[in-house]
Amino acid sequence: MNSVNSHSHTILVVDGNEESRIAISDSLSAAGFNTVEARNAKLALVYYKQVHPDLVLMDLDLPDVAGGLELCAELTTLAAPANVPVIVLSHHNEMTLAATVFDAGAADFVIHPLNHLVLVQRCRYQIRASMTLISLKRRERILEHAERIANMGSWEWDSKTGELMVSREFNRILGFAEDRKTSVRDVLEKLPESERLKIIRNFQQADSKHQGRITLHHRVSSDTGLGRTLRHEARFVLHNEKDYSVYGTIHDITEEIAHKDQILQLAYYDTLTQLPNRTFFKTHLDHAIKQARQKGHLLAVILLDLDLFTRINNSLGHEAGDELLKKVSNRLLRTFDDARCTALNMHAIDPQAPLENMTDKIARLEGDQFAVLINRFKRLDDIILFVQKMLKQLVTPFTLQGNNIVLTASAGIALYPVNGLGSEMILRNADAAMHFAKSQGRNNFHFYSSDIDFKSKERLSVENDLRHAIRHNELELHYQPKLHLKNGGIQSVEALVRWNHPVRGLVSPSQFVPMAEEIGLINELGEWLINKACLQAKQWNESGLQPIRIAINLSPIQFRGSPLVQMIRNGLLACRLAPSQLEVEVTETVLLEDTNRVLRTLDGIRNLGVKVALDDFGTGYSSLSYLTRFPFNTLKIDRSFVSQCIRKGQAAAIIHTIIQLCKNLNLEVVAEGVETHEELKFLLDHRCDVVQGHYFSPALSAEDLAQYVRQQSWVTLLADPVTTANPSR
Ligand code: C2E
Ligand code: CA
Ligand code: CA
Repeated sequence: MNSVNSHSHTILVVDGNEESRIAISDSLSAAGFNTVEARNAKLALVYYKQVHPDLVLMDLDLPDVAGGLELCAELTTLAAPANVPVIVLSHHNEMTLAATVFDAGAADFVIHPLNHLVLVQRCRYQIRASMTLISLKRRERILEHAERIANMGSWEWDSKTGELMVSREFNRILGFAEDRKTSVRDVLEKLPESERLKIIRNFQQADSKHQGRITLHHRVSSDTGLGRTLRHEARFVLHNEKDYSVYGTIHDITEEIAHKDQILQLAYYDTLTQLPNRTFFKTHLDHAIKQARQKGHLLAVILLDLDLFTRINNSLGHEAGDELLKKVSNRLLRTFDDARCTALNMHAIDPQAPLENMTDKIARLEGDQFAVLINRFKRLDDIILFVQKMLKQLVTPFTLQGNNIVLTASAGIALYPVNGLGSEMILRNADAAMHFAKSQGRNNFHFYSSDIDFKSKERLSVENDLRHAIRHNELELHYQPKLHLKNGGIQSVEALVRWNHPVRGLVSPSQFVPMAEEIGLINELGEWLINKACLQAKQWNESGLQPIRIAINLSPIQFRGSPLVQMIRNGLLACRLAPSQLEVEVTETVLLEDTNRVLRTLDGIRNLGVKVALDDFGTGYSSLSYLTRFPFNTLKIDRSFVSQCIRKGQAAAIIHTIIQLCKNLNLEVVAEGVETHEELKFLLDHRCDVVQGHYFSPALSAEDLAQYVRQQSWVTLLADPVTTANPSR
């Protein structure tokens, strides 16, 4: 590009003197240039615009203008954008003239008489210089476009002059006017305080060796107030022992980071609660374990799982369940100003992640399961305090769709390195400990021990056995009588399920019914129970006994979408049983479920002609208003009040009040768990309607119950107090 191939270059020769003009033109042509001749200023301008010459050679002596300086100015202005050099010829050897000509923008000034050989050389030189300039400018333009496309600016700083040179894009990114002469100070002023110190420190470190490279991310303030993030790279280049330059680029990566954040958000955060997810937690744990191994530290993983959450989720619907989970996570987050646990470390996933985003200390592993890693504790007591604090966050009931929801949670704790060396193992063991805490009655926590492992395996096998027992008709129903105090007759019998495990012996329904709820077997169990009870009533009828009503217990979960009313109707129809021979007992917890659905189901059951009893009254959280809103026939006072009615005035007062309330609401009232003569007497005195309890009989097998009824075994027990009871009844 730099070698001037004269054949392709055109020179405009402007000269009023024909002889001189032709002579110049001839020598240029001989040197291989194309020439165009203009004999006056006017033509010079016309030709210039037509031929776009590569160089202009003009004499100041022209016929149509005085002095020619004006034309010189006009031509140089025209020629400047294209970098076309203008060489001025003059007959006057004057300094001031030369200065004026150069000021006007001329590239050279040549005095007559001309040496044509030298003139040709000067033309060659000027064209070459102009071509170099043009190509430089072109490269600069390319660079500028490239920088714009890449969203990248560049700068250079020279140690000798202390001057900063920046590209237009550099200015644009920093929010300066593009052609501003930006100084180092201008740049520093664009940085937030903390970032400024960071950069200065980085550059000083590198500068101390006058070499090296720097790559750092920092923010700059922008006019909109939204900071932008730049990736800043710089290289020190040493020229000699003391002089050096620094070349740098800045790259606006704000969007890139936002995209990356989005991707990280999707991959490592839970969309519902915005908490870190299992993947994040596990990576964080891996990272923490690595550090703990090096430093010989202990770690503790706490796994927290809500108790019976599926119950709420299924009854209130998943949307409400989600809402509740959000509320729970917000509550839990309050525990975490606690210094004992550190924020989940995003650097474990992305070393470039900005630190200020890392404030999450709790993760949601799945469904209703949350996890925390504690890495700053001295004694196990610290962890216990912490877990207790977490569990306590849930104590206050949650309000959801107008319902009061009482939630508890169970937690399991596993320690590194005691309970496992890898994250997988530790999580698994924390999970086992959590399940153990649940099996011990929930709303509790437990540390992992190998013992638990055994127990949780055992639990798994019990679960399988239960599934088997339900499906293979290995459960039994026992029946406990409920007796009318007024006439000494049998009011009904309560069907209580029994499981005689081949190895474990009798397993209590308080243990395996919740298990059936948890593992999704409760509807199967319920259906079996309904059919079994109907069948039993029918068999007793057929054996010649008086018609006995059987009360069955329903779990709240059976109100969630299972066709409960249909099931009961089918059971009755299959045995051709009068609906009055069936009763259902539901506990107050059912009222915490979706009110409308529960109401619909209870109404459906009552419309069949089946009675409905409210069980365990007084132990739940429901209000008395439920008694008027729901269609109960009967209310059962919980055993705990009955067992205390003699010793504790408060229990006695509660029973008294409940009985009065039932009278007013026209509800039949049953006292359960009657164990002693005194209790019976108390209940008689307070005009309770029906009693049930070991004082009369435990739950009996079908045959024993039939025997019990035939022999009227309870009559003598009732006889004594009846005579002593208030005769006004
Ligand atoms: P529940 O409905 O409150 O049943 C009464 C429980 O009290 C029964 O325990 C019964 O044997 C016991 N009981 C009765 N009289 C006395 C007494 O005088 N003293 C004492 N200490 N206890 C007495 P069980 O059979 O162990 O049942 C426990 C719970 O398991 C039941 O409480 C009920 O909630 C549930 N359950 C039992 N069978 C079924 C069933 O077929 N389906 C469902 N969903 N739950 C059932
Ligand atoms: Ca019951
Ligand atoms: Ca009960």
